[in-house]
Amino acid sequence: MARQIVLMGGTFDPVHCGHLIVARAAAEKCGFDRITLLPAGSPPHKHSPLADGSHRLAMLRLAVTGDALFEISDLELSRTGPSYTFDTVAGFKTAGRQTAVAILVGMDMLELLPAWHRAAELLKIADFIIAVRRPWLDRMRRIQSKLNEAFGPRQARKLTGRIIETPLIDISSTDIRSRVRQGLPIRYLVPQAVEEYVLSKGLYRSGE
Ligand code: ATP
Repeated sequence: MARQIVLMGGTFDPVHCGHLIVARAAAEKCGFDRITLLPAGSPPHKHSPLADGSHRLAMLRLAVTGDALFEISDLELSRTGPSYTFDTVAGFKTAGRQTAVAILVGMDMLELLPAWHRAAELLKIADFIIAVRRPWLDRMRRIQSKLNEAFGPRQARKLTGRIIETPLIDISSTDIRSRVRQGLPIRYLVPQAVEEYVLSKGLYRSGE
């Protein structure tokens, strides 16, 4: 059987417990024994990360130390220019011709997918697993019609065919950065080693 790589991309600015809980839930539901966390260098659809790639990578490493589920790829960080998922997936496929690539994304990302670089081609070379938090039905219907318009019903079905329900974890990197800026604790929102790293390096004290 073809080797399967499951990628979870993100800015991870910083990685938080929501990311880890959702990835674990997806692994449990879909039977994955490996998930590759893929920090973006310069995400094309978001603001530039506040923390340097080296810090974001270091925090990811600290967050998953000792957890065999996770692997971290610095492929996008080591590339200059925008991090296009299409290029990354194509790169993984060239490296191992038998490799099937699945991309794990949250529903918020799914909504932006029509604007991704070479999105229609990406759909042909990768499977998508969509992590959806409850309550999601109304929003999902809205997204589904957008996807139908962008990719046609057949490809759109391929996208929405692998929806998994994951816990509702109301944590975001934006909120964590804002708490640090205000001097509020981030304990339990991020793994302890990540909290220590953020504080010891003085990350997120200023900025957006
Ligand atoms: P920011 O607040 O800076 O926009 P974020 O917390 O959304 O960041 P990202 O690094 O952009 O984190 O997210 C990477 C992936 O993780 C995306 O697919 C996103 O949908 C998903 N994700 C992030 N936070 C959660 C959460 N609390 N529950 C479920 N999925 C999440």
